[in-house]
Amino acid sequence: MEDQNVIIIGSGPAAWTAAIYTARAKLKPLVFEGFYSGPAGGQLMTTTEVENFPGFPEGITGPDLMKRMKDQAIRFGTQVLTEDVKSCDFSKRPFVVFGSKHQVRTKSVIVATGATAKRLNVEGAREGEFWQRGVTACAVCDGAMPIFRNKELYVIGGGDTAVEEAIFLTRYGSKVFLVHRRDELRASKIMAQRAIKHPKIEVVWDSVLEGVQGDNVVTSVKLKNVKTNAIEQRPAGGVFFAIGHTPNTGFLDNQLELGSSGYVNVKPGSTITSVEGIFAAGDVFDSQYRQAITAAGSGCMAAIEVERWIAAQSHH
Ligand SMILES: Cc1cc2nc3c(=O)[nH]c(=O)nc-3n(C[C@H](O)[C@H](O)[C@H](O)COP(=O)(O)OP(=O)(O)OC[C@H]3O[C@@H](n4cnc5c(N)ncnc54)[C@H](O)[C@@H]3O)c2cc1C
Repeated sequence: MEDQNVIIIGSGPAAWTAAIYTARAKLKPLVFEGFYSGPAGGQLMTTTEVENFPGFPEGITGPDLMKRMKDQAIRFGTQVLTEDVKSCDFSKRPFVVFGSKHQVRTKSVIVATGATAKRLNVEGAREGEFWQRGVTACAVCDGAMPIFRNKELYVIGGGDTAVEEAIFLTRYGSKVFLVHRRDELRASKIMAQRAIKHPKIEVVWDSVLEGVQGDNVVTSVKLKNVKTNAIEQRPAGGVFFAIGHTPNTGFLDNQLELGSSGYVNVKPGSTITSVEGIFAAGDVFDSQYRQAITAAGSGCMAAIEVERWIAAQSHH
């Protein structure tokens, strides 16, 4: 394959937005949309209704939204390879991207491989069981669904995100239980106090989720006290994992500087990584917001930064 201006790795909102912008800037982007790495189309392929993406007042399904983004990128000339990137060589320019079938040289790269929400592999919470039928990994995305209204909801985790999600869910559930495996929350003091003092939140200390039961939807959870080993079944209308995310950076083989939790480090307020000419967009660097619209926003930023960087290079 001929040398490229820009290769975009990934296929979520960040990747397609970067593709739309770089394609319209006549850079002819090449997207490696992935194959085994996760559903091509990213995390939204695993959800049904997306109700908070501006422009769709009636809501839109995740797969529909992603198809529209991809179609829009292709309309302006984006080329797409349906394969995973296995590794990259960022040690010299042009950079080389090694896909499972193609090996391509490029002036610049936008890494938009997203992150994977961690889930617990417990009985009843798996794909084909109650996953996406009352068990989810995103309270902000799914909390407002009717199935959770006035139910007892369980958030699994003990960090800031878990507390935030628990507080968010108090708007919908009759009561929110925060299940934490230790006797102290990992969240910051302020956040922990907010959870502990909240009239609708109860922390279930020293406990882990053992299983999820239900009929069409979740109706109960089984919790185990790790100190006494006692198992208790409790009525539940929903289970929300808030145990962190794993950014998809394995294929980078530590060629980009990563932060403590494995997110790609970028210069604040930009998408510039530790290697000149390599940019990062979306959940792969963003541990804070993790939404489709913010991923798309940083995809746009990366595209504009690539465009400026390539222009500056050709003036040298
Ligand atoms: C169940 C669920 C529901 C959600 N609902 C909402 C919602 O309603 N509203 C909202 O705003 N946000 C929602 N989110 C969050 C939103 O999906 C993410 O913030 C957003 O998708 C991040 O986009 P991204 O472009 O960074 O990457 P991702 O969507 O994570 O996509 C990255 C993709 O890149 C590909 N990839 C990974 N590695 C490689 C590789 N080595 N080579 C090639 N390709 C690769 C994979 O296909 C991967 O899926 C939800 C998330 C989940 C899990």
